[in-house]
Amino acid sequence: MSAPFLHPDPALQGLTVLERGWLSSNNVLLHGDGSGAVLVDSSHALHAGQTLALVRRALRGEPLRQVVNTHLHSDHCGGNASLQRAFGCRLTIPPGQWDAVLAWDEGALSYAATGQHCERFVPDDRLASGEVLAVGGRQWQALAAPGHDPHSLILFDPEHRVVITADALWQRGFGVVFPELEGEPGWDDVARVLDLIESLGARWAIPGHGRPFDDVPAALAVARQRLAAFRADPQRHAHHAMKALIKYHLLEVQQQPLPALLHWFDAGPLYRETWQRAGRPAGSMRDWGDRIVAELAAAGVLALRDGVVYNA
Ligand SMILES: [Zn+2]
Repeated sequence: MSAPFLHPDPALQGLTVLERGWLSSNNVLLHGDGSGAVLVDSSHALHAGQTLALVRRALRGEPLRQVVNTHLHSDHCGGNASLQRAFGCRLTIPPGQWDAVLAWDEGALSYAATGQHCERFVPDDRLASGEVLAVGGRQWQALAAPGHDPHSLILFDPEHRVVITADALWQRGFGVVFPELEGEPGWDDVARVLDLIESLGARWAIPGHGRPFDDVPAALAVARQRLAAFRADPQRHAHHAMKALIKYHLLEVQQQPLPALLHWFDAGPLYRETWQRAGRPAGSMRDWGDRIVAELAAAGVLALRDGVVYNA
């Protein structure tokens, strides 16, 4: 377990950032002032036990009153159910997929399309763009941040100029632009959200993955460069996305015989759609998957031994 991110800047006092990895999003604990703490994002279901332990330690006896999800990808809400069981806390989600979550429609959520795992949970209420989340004397503005995910929110505390950016902005880039893989426009949304983040004038950004950072203009410059490259060559984005999602799958399963992995890839609607949109590279889904696995292995991101693929 990594130690919580600590920094003496007063702007970050009353916040505990639990930096996780790529399978699990960061958790941002917003400490309360007697009314209980709020946790932003709950990581992946496979790490739920670790999340509980980290959150319990960081709470130092304070009650956890609420979990808020920036968006509902499996690496951001997989711990919701176990946190609710452990703390009896309220679960709050962005409104866009409310009905899909209540019905646990894995087709409408991203889990069926990506072949990812998320434990079912039942939300209590919604946080919509324009609403305010008040915790511990801070007023967090919820702001729509489509692009990576059409329903995602970011949270901004204007008094302390801290922004929780989820997967809309990392220190070096942003999350896969899923709508573009599905044939829906996404680049303009990404650009608008980067402009929105710039307009906030934040001194600190707490991303969904990676350490908090205070050079927001530098991160915006990197993100805009990356966006321009993807926009100019969407195939490059598609290829990058497939590599990222296959690596993510190996983080989930740790190891898998290559034929089983290629079967999983072949069966994922999002992967098939991306392959078709990319002009059916390699002639077949399995050959394309095989090629991507080989590239990841050559880069040392995965290991391939005796027909078995390992997370590296
Ligand atoms: Zn995401």
